[in-house]
Amino acid sequence: MLGRQGAGKGTQCVRLSRHYVVPHISTGDMLRVAVKEGTEFGRKAQEYMDAGDLLPDDIIIGIVDERLEKDDTRNRGFLLDGFPRTVTQADALLEITQPQGIDLAVNLEVPTEVVLKRLAGRRVCTDCGANYSVDESPAHDWTCDVCGGEVVQRPDDTEGAIRRRLDLYEQETAPLIAWFMARDKLVVVDGVGHPDDVTARLVRAIDRRRDHQRAR
Ligand code: ADP
Ligand code: ZN
Repeated sequence: MLGRQGAGKGTQCVRLSRHYVVPHISTGDMLRVAVKEGTEFGRKAQEYMDAGDLLPDDIIIGIVDERLEKDDTRNRGFLLDGFPRTVTQADALLEITQPQGIDLAVNLEVPTEVVLKRLAGRRVCTDCGANYSVDESPAHDWTCDVCGGEVVQRPDDTEGAIRRRLDLYEQETAPLIAWFMARDKLVVVDGVGHPDDVTARLVRAIDRRRDHQRAR
């Protein structure tokens, strides 16, 4: 799943992973777990994340490679959220997933003006990662409706880090759209509107593509 920060990748991937019963692999979530555990790696990762920088390719590729080794991905497939984010990572992904490769890349398209507004109001559960916003807060104060965890603003949702991440998206990640298109793997889905409508659009696009591939 490709898309700008705040496009709704996390929210939509959680829904799609339930719909298709495939593991949702989010590099951001995996890194946040490491940060919370306070390992040495976690402390290092936190420095990059708080600044809005990307982790070095070799490190993040190693993490994804290890995760894709697990049986669940072999049996059910997988939904990658937040990876690949650079052309180097995309090349590595093809290598890792040999010989079958990946089926599809989805570009969840939301314009910069819209994501800027969403990110400023975004709040997340520190325990389960559920997303909220200042307009759609949990039922009880800032206690997560799903797990009872504390709902806060992400440390990298400051103005400076947001700007940095969006710049890096344009420089490093946006070129992947052409990269996947050249390999006939890309569908574009409009990410503006109610989350339920966006989910329905995604399911339609993915199913259409799957039927088309089966028919070949
Ligand atoms: P966002 O999409 O809003 O930046 P994520 O939760 O996907 O949020 O990622 C948070 C941070 O984790 C990124 O800003 C970056 O520092 C790090 N990160 C996640 N995925 C990658 C990746 N594929 N390559 C390098 N760094 C990554
Ligand atoms: Zn929670």
